[in-house]
Amino acid sequence: MEQLVSLMTAEGLAPALVSEQAANVAKLLSELSGTCVYAESITTMDGCVLFMARRKLQNLLGAVSNSRDALEAMGLMGEICTSGDSTELHVQICETTHENAVTLRKLLPFTSPSLVGMKTSAGCGDRLGITTPGHIRALRGSGLMGVFAQQSIREMSRTQRTAEEVIDDATWGVFQEGYREGFGSDADHLKTAEDIDRCLAAGFTMFTIDPGDHVDNAADEDDETTLAEKYERLPWSSLESSPADCRQMYTDGVFKINDDLELTFTREILLRAAAKYSSAVAHTVQLYRHLIEKVGEGAFELEVSVDETATPTTVVEHFFIASELKRLGVKWVSLAPRFVGEFEKGVDYIGDLEVFEREFSQHAAVARRFGPYKISLHSGSDKFSIYPIISTHTKNLFHLKTAGTSYLEALRVVALCDPTLFREILAFAIERYPEDRASYHVSADTAKVPEADKLRDAQLAGLLDQFDCREILHVTFGSVLNVKTSEDLYRFRDRLFHTLNEHEETYYTAIAKHIGKHIAPFTESK
Ligand code: ZN
Repeated sequence: MEQLVSLMTAEGLAPALVSEQAANVAKLLSELSGTCVYAESITTMDGCVLFMARRKLQNLLGAVSNSRDALEAMGLMGEICTSGDSTELHVQICETTHENAVTLRKLLPFTSPSLVGMKTSAGCGDRLGITTPGHIRALRGSGLMGVFAQQSIREMSRTQRTAEEVIDDATWGVFQEGYREGFGSDADHLKTAEDIDRCLAAGFTMFTIDPGDHVDNAADEDDETTLAEKYERLPWSSLESSPADCRQMYTDGVFKINDDLELTFTREILLRAAAKYSSAVAHTVQLYRHLIEKVGEGAFELEVSVDETATPTTVVEHFFIASELKRLGVKWVSLAPRFVGEFEKGVDYIGDLEVFEREFSQHAAVARRFGPYKISLHSGSDKFSIYPIISTHTKNLFHLKTAGTSYLEALRVVALCDPTLFREILAFAIERYPEDRASYHVSADTAKVPEADKLRDAQLAGLLDQFDCREILHVTFGSVLNVKTSEDLYRFRDRLFHTLNEHEETYYTAIAKHIGKHIAPFTESK
């Protein structure tokens, strides 16, 4: 116990323990608290030793001090007991509630999300809320900054999680792993001011504005007369411009991006770009100003995403969007165009790599010219064939966004550890797929999924490497998590979480390996 008590003399935040010391202290704390303590989590702050622990598969926050006053001053909610032996240590065991997460973020700022800026970054969406330790293991020491709290409003409603829970789950995961390098939080695909307010209140720091509903995809095919009519009707007052001013600004010259790239706007190119994107620009400006009004400049960062549109963003359209946003005073850290080719969920890039590289290199050049800002790749998981191209041309001024791929790794663990449950989930997913695929970009064919009943248990995990199976399982997550057999009984949810909790190390290892494969191309070339 002396080793433990000696930690309590440090003031403020003490440096992390080296692993051998942490293992010893974890043992002492486990005995003292009747829990199983995560050694990496042990943190000394103002005379108290804080830690994450587990008791019967339930995660708990613990705090120990030889001063009851010091412990109470922390402000955590939980019962305090005093050990009966001569050490007279006070032990507090707290549940992982929202209130305790808020307090922990105040006590230990590294458990609070921060701004990412121009660092190469990887968004690690976590639909289950228990994946952050795995994400941390993938990113630790890589030089990339992880965005561990990342969820779109759509995903929050499908997983029945609140914005607060998304942030809290990242906080607990970061604390559990003792990860002090900082992490980001991305309120993804926000479409309205109400979405923004919800996520601001929860403590998000990055806001991805998706003005996709205001993109006019038909403009790609419209004839010049239609385009000219649409152009005249654009929201010019919101755009603080006029048809004539805009024409003059773009069609009057040549825009030199770099030595290899010059862009020119013919009348038709301008009409098409403006008809397609100007209303989206106006909507983005409105939401950006809403954020400025609420929290002020410098307190948040912005991403602009037009990735979920029907047609690709051409390089000249990317230039137009960036130029217009800049003219209207918007500051952003990353922009996600809709790139050429198919970005289906959870599978590799589909398309001509040469065409992609030519276009992508020009998008990256535009991003350098106007920002520089990061190019963001949405539906970015499992696109292994294009990562080297992206790394080269962005010089790692890049944000990778992944979400569902971690859920697929969770199902791989289920396939390994509970084959019966996996078979049930797969059969249900195949049933749900025709309906659930509607809002996703996928092309899987249920007829191509191997029959799970004819596979041995040991072969099931291999289904997670099969194209159709991946997509089908990817887009049905909401149905799988929410389906009930009766009023208050989930069909899969509780068993799924139970399996993952029981095999958490297997799960973290699978995540670390899979996400690690995503980020390796961006660390090797640094
Ligand atoms: Zn997206």
